[in-house]
Amino acid sequence: MRAVLTAQGLQKSFGAVRAATDISLTFDPDTVVSLIGANGAGKTTFLNMVTGYLRPDSGQILFGERDIVGLSPRQITKLGISRSFQIPQLFNSLSVRENLLLAESIAATDNPQAATDEALTRFELAPYAAQKAGLLPEGIRKLLDVSMALSSRSKLLLLDEPTSGVSADEKFAIMDVVMGAARIAGVTVIFVEHDMDIVARFAGRVVAFYDGGIIADGSPDTVLRAENVRRYVIGEE
Ligand code: ATP
Repeated sequence: MRAVLTAQGLQKSFGAVRAATDISLTFDPDTVVSLIGANGAGKTTFLNMVTGYLRPDSGQILFGERDIVGLSPRQITKLGISRSFQIPQLFNSLSVRENLLLAESIAATDNPQAATDEALTRFELAPYAAQKAGLLPEGIRKLLDVSMALSSRSKLLLLDEPTSGVSADEKFAIMDVVMGAARIAGVTVIFVEHDMDIVARFAGRVVAFYDGGIIADGSPDTVLRAENVRRYVIGEE
């Protein structure tokens, strides 16, 4: 199977902090991957390098067969890599529909109106269409944020803690909707997550980061039981 994304030998330092030591990872189109790791382990740095917000000091990132190092975030989005952030990036004074319309227009979707209607349905946001984003409950804001990231051009969707800041019940509901929408859209999902119940339920593969490197990579069953992951990621003595 051809890889959707290949990172080879990525390194990134901030002064004395080595946020990526030598990251090499290959992602297949059909596998949902969760990136786990304690705060500061390097997960967001990895997403930032893939999406053009940070340039690696060295290494290669291939999207399909195309090297994307040095491209801007906007160019990378246009190629088909979408991303959501830890904190939803919404236009609070605009309605849900207007937010979606704006995202589809920025992504240069062929028919932004139709794409907006489809997103409202897929993400179960239709009941909120006319409400201002700033007044929505956090769980709905999260859904809106992901739905805005997932334009019709997306081939790869990167989610940075899609369930942070919402209740345990809501986490599963949000992920059910997001994963369902991604499946229908045929998009590969990579998500950063701190809740191991969510990881175990939704990921087909788990990559554990520690101190800028990778300490485990494999099935959720194997990785979540690994002794070093339990100690350094899950925080058990
Ligand atoms: P979290 O779960 O808290 O989001 P993370 O695994 O995503 O953590 P990163 O945000 O990638 O971790 O941070 C990795 C290391 O790099 C940390 O030590 C962080 O302080 C440092 N770092 C990240 N971005 C910058 C930056 N722009 N300038 C300086 N240091 C940075």
